[in-house]
Amino acid sequence: RRGLLYGSAGVAAVSLAGCGVGGDDGPELTGFTGISMPTDTSERWVIEGKALEDNLKGLGYDVIHHNAKDVVEDQISQIQSMVDEGVEFLIIAAIDNKSLGQVLADAKDKGVIVISYDRLILETPDVDYYASFNNYQVGVLQANHIIDRLGMRENPGPFNVEIFSGDLGDNNSQYFFMGGLDTFESFIYDGKIVIPSGQTEQSPTSTAGWSGDVAMERMNTLLADFYDDLELHAVLSPYDGISRGVVQALVDADYEPGTDDFPVVTGQDAEAASIKAIKDGTGQTETVFKDTRLLASTVTDMVEALVGGGEPEVNDLGTYDNGFKFVPSLLLDPVDVTAENYVEVIVESEYLTEEQIDAGE
Ligand code: BGC
Repeated sequence: RRGLLYGSAGVAAVSLAGCGVGGDDGPELTGFTGISMPTDTSERWVIEGKALEDNLKGLGYDVIHHNAKDVVEDQISQIQSMVDEGVEFLIIAAIDNKSLGQVLADAKDKGVIVISYDRLILETPDVDYYASFNNYQVGVLQANHIIDRLGMRENPGPFNVEIFSGDLGDNNSQYFFMGGLDTFESFIYDGKIVIPSGQTEQSPTSTAGWSGDVAMERMNTLLADFYDDLELHAVLSPYDGISRGVVQALVDADYEPGTDDFPVVTGQDAEAASIKAIKDGTGQTETVFKDTRLLASTVTDMVEALVGGGEPEVNDLGTYDNGFKFVPSLLLDPVDVTAENYVEVIVESEYLTEEQIDAGE
């Protein structure tokens, strides 16, 4: 499975000759790496921080690992302390992508190689590589789930849909959002999709801190303001934690999960509680799986290549512009998950066991 996903990402080595990264004439690299993860409220970042640490230590490298737990200032000071300790590499998933310019300028002065992990760091020249998934495709998969599940190609509708997007400080949010909205566009134009709230811009649909509670509150407000006499048919949600907040609001408003009348709700990250809902038919019906084990091993390979004096493999040089440059990127493929394929994609690949799913954790 892993090989298959990796292969389907169309990864091909792209020469980066002349990029000037890798310290040609600097001292030899030992692999000393600082890892900075953004939050511990969503499973993936905790698992990946640990996976990166284990992988790199397995190669004999020294590692410092911090999780900034949603506090931007803490992330900056943790990164600064790792730079002061003399790390050669930084692997960073930023909380706020525009907050790291200064600390990264200092890192760059000291010759640190910076890898932007999953989320692109913006407005600084001091990012060397980016490793992530095809984030636009995530939104496409989510929107297509709604279109297919409601049979929008065959049925005239109209279907009432609401849109949720992620945290505004996260560069990925706009890609998920654009992928979804572009996929909906012709249906909106045809009048098949109606968005009763009229909220179709990123800002009003955003969810601070990717928080389920924030999403639940917004869903409550939308239901109260626009759905007195209207039925809601679907909610485009970018992340499982948000989806579960949305589902809670729907349940509180007497929509019954598992029935045909329950709105179609999407998600992302294959969190155990969400796969459980997908399996049992008690909430969202889809999530987008991004094999984060693969991302962690890909980034480990990047560090290893650089330590060995080579260039890391990338497959995209022209998509991710961070305001200063197109950052050489390695993008992996996201996978759509529903009740039909969760066993194959999630269980058989050993991402989660049936027991973990049943326990919802
Ligand atoms: C990640 C998603 C995740 C979200 C919230 C995004 O940057 O790409 O996988 O759902 O952050 O943690």
